[in-house]
Amino acid sequence: MQAFLKATLAALFICLAAPPCAATARPTPDAAAPIALDIAVQRDETVVVTYRAKAPIKALHFAQALGGYRPEDWHPQSAGFRWTQEGPGERIERVDGGTFRSVRFTLPVRYRALPKSYAPFSPFSDGSFLIHSGQFHACLRAPCEGTGAMPMRIAAAGKTIGVEGRRGPDQTRFVSRDEGTSIFVGTLKPEAADGFIAVIDPGLPPTAREHLRGSLPRAMDTFARFYGPLSFRPELYVSIDARVRADGHVSNQGGTLPGQIFMHFDGENARERVTAEQPFWLDWFFAHEAAHLFQQDRIGKLASDETAAWIHEGGADAMAALALARRGKEDRAYVASRVRSAETACVKGLTKAPLDRATADGNFDLHYQCGLLIWLALDESLRTANADGLHAVNKTLFARVKAGAPWDEAAFIAAAQSNGVPQPLLQRIARVVHGGYAGPQDDVAALGNAAVATVSRE
Ligand SMILES: [Zn+2]
Repeated sequence: MQAFLKATLAALFICLAAPPCAATARPTPDAAAPIALDIAVQRDETVVVTYRAKAPIKALHFAQALGGYRPEDWHPQSAGFRWTQEGPGERIERVDGGTFRSVRFTLPVRYRALPKSYAPFSPFSDGSFLIHSGQFHACLRAPCEGTGAMPMRIAAAGKTIGVEGRRGPDQTRFVSRDEGTSIFVGTLKPEAADGFIAVIDPGLPPTAREHLRGSLPRAMDTFARFYGPLSFRPELYVSIDARVRADGHVSNQGGTLPGQIFMHFDGENARERVTAEQPFWLDWFFAHEAAHLFQQDRIGKLASDETAAWIHEGGADAMAALALARRGKEDRAYVASRVRSAETACVKGLTKAPLDRATADGNFDLHYQCGLLIWLALDESLRTANADGLHAVNKTLFARVKAGAPWDEAAFIAAAQSNGVPQPLLQRIARVVHGGYAGPQDDVAALGNAAVATVSRE
């Protein structure tokens, strides 16, 4: 489901793609739900969360253990509870093994960089913050997928709460499901923006703020020219918390949830990191995330990262590369340098194992690096005959997946073939993905040269 992208910056830059735009019909909170959650925002940068079960339970189960985050930050308000690891997840239970109907925790509203997952809270510099509802999903029994419906009531006196496109004061209810959503709590007002809703932190450097206002709509306009406009109005959240952390941790994290793009800069020198390397890496980030919005919108879901993530992550990176390359000479030079770094990283990774082993080997980045080259080389192979290049393959692929085909390598190849991608290139891609090369240099160099050629043409 989730993927990482290392930035060219020293700090970790994480990109996660979450799936499916959930069903549009959202039932009102169901009083009969077996479990429900209250989130009460306090005045001291904490929240109190209370899980209530309809019937007595022996444990509450969570799908992902989040690297020790909950045992560390979720403090039960009554004694006698403990956290226990449970496969990839964890559970809260009574030490004496007894049953309970509710459990209440006090949590600090602080950013936490999590392994392969979004932070539960993203604070803004003015005291507003986002809550990622998915990190609060729980189950009555294990194994817990963490995607079931969870009715939530949020209370935040004197603040605006924004969720599911609505904004209102003091309190609200909704049902969180699937991967969850980012809930806004605070006082910041959205910027007036065409086609999307943007909440951009006033604590960002003014030049970066100004740039961010334009960067995302620009990418969306580019993609809309090929795919048509999005069927929904996406939300953009950019937050910064430049307070120095006790553990010295710094990070830039960005990602998408259905209909939402967000980015958070955290820790010491966060302002400097926003403006590092000109705006190009931010432009790339927004264009990559905008590409995911179009994938989601046209397909109705996103493929799991468990299978062939180079298709959707490499595809989004290649769409970003093409969108930036057409903006100007400096942008093109930046894109070409990213292509060349991807080439170096792709050769290095493939020397150890082919691309279909990357996830198992803990080198998820390889999906971005080799995937970018694969998609751009495919673009180059089509451009003479079809100016839409990779977008033509995407349109075929999106339509097939929407009609029920799995988003996998077979669907990709079928879409590529039907658009006229030459067989030798498909064989080269198959070698990169599955192996069968003596050394990967020649194949990767050929992909890289084609990739540079196609972005130089823009
Ligand atoms: Zn992505």
